[in-house]
Amino acid sequence: MTDGVIPLFDLRQVGRIPPVPTERPVQNGPWLDARGRPLRDLRISVTDRCNFRCSYCMPKEVFDKHYEFLPHRELLSFEEITRLARVFAELGVQKLRLTGGEPLLRRHIEALIAQLAELRTPEGDPLDLTLTTNGSLLARKAQALKDAGLNRVTVSLDAMDDAVFRRMNDVDFPVADVLHGIEVAQSVGLAPIKVNMVVKRGTNDDQILPMARHFRGTGVVLRFIEYMDVGMSNGWRMDEVLPSAQVLARLREHMDLVPLAASAPGETATRWGYADGSGEIGLISSVTQAFCGDCNRARLSTEGRLYTCLFAGDGHDLRALLRGQGELPPRDDAEIAAALGALWQRRADRYSELRASLPPSEGAPARRVEMHYIGG
Ligand code: SAM
Ligand code: SF4
Ligand code: SF4
Repeated sequence: MTDGVIPLFDLRQVGRIPPVPTERPVQNGPWLDARGRPLRDLRISVTDRCNFRCSYCMPKEVFDKHYEFLPHRELLSFEEITRLARVFAELGVQKLRLTGGEPLLRRHIEALIAQLAELRTPEGDPLDLTLTTNGSLLARKAQALKDAGLNRVTVSLDAMDDAVFRRMNDVDFPVADVLHGIEVAQSVGLAPIKVNMVVKRGTNDDQILPMARHFRGTGVVLRFIEYMDVGMSNGWRMDEVLPSAQVLARLREHMDLVPLAASAPGETATRWGYADGSGEIGLISSVTQAFCGDCNRARLSTEGRLYTCLFAGDGHDLRALLRGQGELPPRDDAEIAAALGALWQRRADRYSELRASLPPSEGAPARRVEMHYIGG
């Protein structure tokens, strides 16, 4: 095992079944959590498997051939995912993001997309339907995804330099194939495309400028993400985080950038535009600038656990509500909506804010769920 990689503490079995209130609360307007935040954005992990082994997410030493991924029967079916998404839409969710693991590894994912594309908000609007992918299968799948009703994609790419990228994905996957996937996705209209680059100091921070130069003027929005202490297996260290402020300073030495307004409440990225109008970049400062204040996101794991924070230790077992468990009967949509509404109203998560105010030794909760399992 390499230095810093921590053996996996398996949190997948930890899940509480949310109680179903006996009385249905009357709700006018959006459900707000204990800190006044609405629920708008649901990220759905459709598989815990991935064909990459990015060291910051699924280090090879932990996710090796002995690692037991979830068996198929444990996964939510497409019908179960769609049913939950429908209930979430009733509660105010406007945006769905499919993720993983690598979501394009889930067979017939376009069938799920077609089902989700049928959903409507209480006002009758379609949901914003998007997907985050490592891009390896994108060229092959882009047209089918678009035809099924997907609006946009976000592609993860950490370097323009082929050797650096192959080292980071740790399966020797070439940059050129991801770039080809991005081009095909653009050509079929899965736009505007966002590209996520996780910046690790000393690993790929020399790629900041080459990435910006490559995507400038292409219509692709490049976003620099601070390396996060999510999960427990990546051996995260603060000295490997390059604060977004430094990313921006490096860019501004070579490019004229002006601040842009946030595109939506709860938006995770701070936006900057090229002064000559040739596009924009984003900075996601999850470590150095907490954005819990308007965090409107929830995450649904591959087997149906709901996490109200990326750094939560325990999930809420929604699959048990759908399927029933032991003496507990399966619940209908109204019962699930009531349980979810009550659960959201109790939510007080703000891990990133707390981390900023605590010494590093006390900042991180003792147990944190893995990113590939609940999705980014
Ligand atoms: N496999 C897909 C991909 O890589 O785009 C989707 C799942 S991946 C978990 C979602 C996003 O989380 C990716 O953009 C990835 O770079 C990001 N991510 C994973 N681990 C991270 C970490 N420790 N810090 C910051 N971002 C991370
Ligand atoms: Fe796979 Fe995405 Fe995690 Fe990389 S970041 S290992 S591509 S799930
Ligand atoms: Fe949201 Fe939790 Fe991240 Fe704060 S730490 S922004 S509450 S997911």
